[in-house]
Amino acid sequence: MIVNKYRKIIFCNDYICNLSFKPNNELINSSIATCFTKASNIFIDSYIYPLLLVETVAQEIQLSFIDQNKQVVPVVVNIRLGEEGTSYWSLYECSNRNKLHSELIKAKDKLEEQSKALYQLAITDPLTGLMNRRELQNQITRIINLVARNPSTFALLSIDVDFFKQVNDTYGHHVGDKVLKHLATILQEDRRANDLVARIGGEEFVLLLPDIDEANAYKLAENLRKKVENEVIDNISITISIGLVVSHKNEKNSFDALLKLSDDALYRSKNAGRNQTSVAYL
Ligand code: GH3
Ligand code: MG
Ligand code: MG
Repeated sequence: MIVNKYRKIIFCNDYICNLSFKPNNELINSSIATCFTKASNIFIDSYIYPLLLVETVAQEIQLSFIDQNKQVVPVVVNIRLGEEGTSYWSLYECSNRNKLHSELIKAKDKLEEQSKALYQLAITDPLTGLMNRRELQNQITRIINLVARNPSTFALLSIDVDFFKQVNDTYGHHVGDKVLKHLATILQEDRRANDLVARIGGEEFVLLLPDIDEANAYKLAENLRKKVENEVIDNISITISIGLVVSHKNEKNSFDALLKLSDDALYRSKNAGRNQTSVAYL
């Protein structure tokens, strides 16, 4: 298609005649604007012509053409500016390219959704919905870095169900699972927004409580322990043993070292008769 400096079409080939809703004799001498949608015309005025003046070419630009059925079809356009404002337009319909592109976008969105779902699966314990050990480690590392620069301390609680094997042996694994789920709910109750609750093993849980001192962490642990002791799940009562450690102020504590200390304290609780809280000292 050849367009003069007044933006009137002075020549077009059969391909464009067939594509356009106008017959050839009407196309010649009509404004180029009649071929495109309003939005495309704004683009032509504000972008394409200014670009042609500077660069003399505009390549692979997608515009919306009005076709023989007065439907909008996407077209890819290459334009070259010649002598005295005459411009040479080559364009071809690109509906398939458009379709492919939108399919590609859809596929990409779906993949993103799936990868989010997979990520959730990878960081979650399937039985209780709590975060798993791997995610706890990530989160703790983040919190340790955060509190390394401020004077607050955080508490780590290692929690293990007492004689849980007996629950399974007496009532079956299925009931055991139900008890673990219920325990997970209790552990999550009354938590502050930044507290973390994780299931790190079979009947082993960890609580991370940011911004708490030792006295309050101990009180909290004891309240939790008593709450579990007093709760009856399907006629079953369980108790938990707790090991507690509180981080040092202004120090970069290592997760592994803290977890080892709270685990040591937990085993002291076990050895001293279970259903109690022991405190570890850094
Ligand atoms: P202790 O007081 O010394 O902790 O005694 P315990 O019986 O709780 O300790 P032990 O480590 O001997 O047993 C833990 C039990 O937890 C054994 C295992 O079958 C059970 N368990 C671990 N994971 C699951 C689970 O996902 N579901 C159920 N139902 N039981 C589990
Ligand atoms: Mg255990
Ligand atoms: Mg146990």
